[in-house]
Formats: sequence, structure tokens, C-alpha cells
Amino acid sequence: MSDASLEAFRAEARAWLDENCPQSMRTPFGSEDEIVWGGRNGKFFSADAKLWLARMAERGWTAPIWPKQYGGGGLSNSENAVLQSELKRINARPALYSFGLWMLGPVLLEYANEEQKKEHLPKIARGEIRWCQGYSEPGAGSDLAGLQTKCEDKGDHWLINGQKVWTSYANYADWCFCLVRTDTSVKHEGISFVLIDMTTKGVETRPIKLISGASPFCETFFTDVKIPKENMVGRLNGGWEIAKRLLQYERTNISGFGSGARVDVVDIARDTIGLGDDGRLADGDLRARIAQHKMAERAYALTTQRAQEEAKAGQNVSHMASMFKVAGARLNIERCELMVEAAGSRAFGWSGDGFDRDELAVTRGWLRSKGNSIEGGTTEVNLNVVAKRVLGLRDTQ
Ligand SMILES: Cc1cc2nc3c(=O)[nH]c(=O)nc-3n(C[C@H](O)[C@H](O)[C@H](O)COP(=O)(O)OP(=O)(O)OC[C@H]3O[C@@H](n4cnc5c(N)ncnc54)[C@H](O)[C@@H]3O)c2cc1C
Repeated sequence: MSDASLEAFRAEARAWLDENCPQSMRTPFGSEDEIVWGGRNGKFFSADAKLWLARMAERGWTAPIWPKQYGGGGLSNSENAVLQSELKRINARPALYSFGLWMLGPVLLEYANEEQKKEHLPKIARGEIRWCQGYSEPGAGSDLAGLQTKCEDKGDHWLINGQKVWTSYANYADWCFCLVRTDTSVKHEGISFVLIDMTTKGVETRPIKLISGASPFCETFFTDVKIPKENMVGRLNGGWEIAKRLLQYERTNISGFGSGARVDVVDIARDTIGLGDDGRLADGDLRARIAQHKMAERAYALTTQRAQEEAKAGQNVSHMASMFKVAGARLNIERCELMVEAAGSRAFGWSGDGFDRDELAVTRGWLRSKGNSIEGGTTEVNLNVVAKRVLGLRDTQ
């Protein structure tokens, strides 16, 4: 696409956003409660949030690069880059957070049949159905291919028995994309990828309560769950390839965590620590570490941008996603540590009136960031992928 047509697209996108993005949607989220996850029982924090999702979905811009016939915007990667920069320019909130958008949709586009695409993709793009991820099991986390949830062919349906764990928001999800064992005689080649309606008889979720009182994950049990034959994506025993591709999308998404944060560490440090006579942050040690972090953040942003541009011609994700996941998780964890250090006792609040919204966000963000090096595959596991698949080092195990 020529520079001139991209600039024309920028003007069009800018005009549309000016007209359609409500003012209250042009600020970062105040708290997690303001995030829109969609779904049959989805809640909207405000009328503007509902309107913003409806308008973005209507335009196909919740899923900008998906084809139009599946509810997407039909944009090229270059147009999408322009759209994202225009959204960023006005500080627009994402209209929809969704495992369907980030993880499932891209693999359905690649591996699903036409009926499955038509059935599921538009509902994801419109935020009508909320998905959860049934991958991890009590005995299968890092060694994901060791999963045991059994799926048997019963002629006119599949019968599923087993347990998943750490299923984020399974208690709110309408559907689950799930890895199941369809052949016990082999490991990776005995896994299939299925879609399960969470209202099916025999599906049970038990929220896992954290020390904070919140329950962001569940144990998910499948007891004699019958699902239609057409709910398998790809071929029987061909699920591992889809599982790995989906993880690449998940890791790409995690690698961007924290980039739209509401508060900046420099502002916090300036407010709490103050400036010296030379006009610089009074604590020289913290100042140096914040500067190092900011440089790393900038380098990371430029590297991800370069990788996106290199990927324009081909596949959107690759094993490189593991590299970005490790680096992005480290940066987010470091950013949160620095913010807590800079905020001092103002970062001790979990709830209540004694702390303002931004201070509570720092504390909660810091605790949440601890999971970044685990979710989507641990740092150790992703470094193994980088060693083997990106650097091509020999496997000595
Ligand atoms: C916030 C969060 C959200 C999550 N959401 C979901 C979800 O929605 N759906 C889902 O299915 N799962 C989810 N998970 C689970 C996540 O995928 C697993 O926790 C992760 O894959 C690690 O598995 P595990 O917890 O069983 O740890 P283990 O696999 O038992 O690992 C324990 C430790 O051993 C290390 N280790 C293991 N194998 C190796 C190796 N070969 N080389 C070096 N070190 C190794 C690991 O790095 C880790 O430090 C979530 C986790 C978190 C933290």
C-alpha cells in the first residue's frame, strides 16, 4: 500500500475516531472493574463503554485485521498499525478485552473450517461470547503435552472427562477452547483441540480464592460432558500444532502488558521523592535505575515495532513470541517494582478511602505482575523455546 493511501486511511480513521470515541473512553482504565470482557453476562461499567464497543464492533475494528465476512475490519497490517497509532494518539481504551480476540480467533482463522469460522468469529468480534482457555491441568503445566483430560469418540458425539486448572475467568466464560487427549498411546500426537459450551451438562467451575480475596482463576471439571462432533478444530490428534500456535498469540499479547499503564513511574517518583536543587529526582540511585528502565522500555518498543514490520509479509506470530514474552514480562515486573519503591508507603493500600485510585492501581498492578513470568508458559520454558527454536541450539536433554 502506498504512503499516500495510508495517509488517506489515517485521515479517515482519525475523523471516525473523533466522531465516535466517547470522551470518557479517552482515558486509561481507572480500575480492573472498568474493563469490558463481553460475553452473555458481560457487564458494562458505563453507557459510554457499551456504546464504544458497539461502534467499534460495527466498524469491525475490535478485530481490525480479520476478514470482514467474519466480523473483522479487513485492514492490512500497515493500516492496522495506523489505526493503533490513532487510537493511542487519543488515549483510547480498548473497547473489548477478550481471549477470543487475542488467542482463539487467530487460530480459528488458520485452522477452523468455514462453518466454525462463521459460527464463532463474528460473536468474538462483537464481544457476544466470552472464552476461557482450558490448557493447564494439575499434572500438566510446563509439560503441557502431558495433559490427561480424556476425549472419547462415541459415534455421534465426543465424551469428555477430566480436570483443568488455573482456567482464568472460567466462571464467567460462555465457552472454553480446550486441549484434550484423544490417543493415550502417544504424547504430542494424541492431543486434539475442541470447543466446549460451558453450559453443557457436566461442566463445573470452582473459583480458586487468592489471598487478596479475588478469584481470577478456576478449577474446571468435565464429567461425562457430551459435545457435538463438529466442535473439534482441525484434525483428530492434530491439536498440538494448534495449541502451540495459540500460545504464540498468547505470548505476543502478554509481551505488551503494562504498555498502556495509567500511571508513570517518573510522575510517582517526582511526587513522592521530589526534585533536588539541580532539578533532578532527589534520590540518585533510584533516578539511575528508572533511567535504565526507561531506556530498556524504549529499546523494547522499537524492537517489537521492527519485528512487527518484518512480519508484515508473512506469519503474524512465530517462536520469536517466546523471546518477546520473556522480555515484556521482565519489563512489566521491573516497572511495577520501581513504582512501588517510588510510591513508598502510598503503595501499601489494597482498598479503602485512605488511598486514591492511582495508588491502589500501583499496589494491585504490582501483585498481579508476579504472574507475568508464569502465565502463557514460564520464563524458563520460554527461554528453552528461544534456545531451541530461535537460536537453533542443540537440545542436550
Ligand atoms: C495469571 C495466570 C493466569 C493463568 N491462566 C491460565 C488459563 O487461563 N488457562 C490455563 O490453561 N492455564 C493458565 N495459567 C497456568 C499457566 O499456564 C501455568 O501456571 C504455567 O504453564 C506453569 O505451569 P505450572 O504452574 O504447572 O508450573 P510447573 O510446570 O510445575 O513449573 C514449576 C517450576 O518449574 C520450572 N520448570 C518446569 N519445567 C521446566 C523445564 N523443562 N526447564 C526449566 N524449568 C522448568 C518452571 O519454570 C517453574 O518455575 C495461568 C497462570 C497464571 C499465573
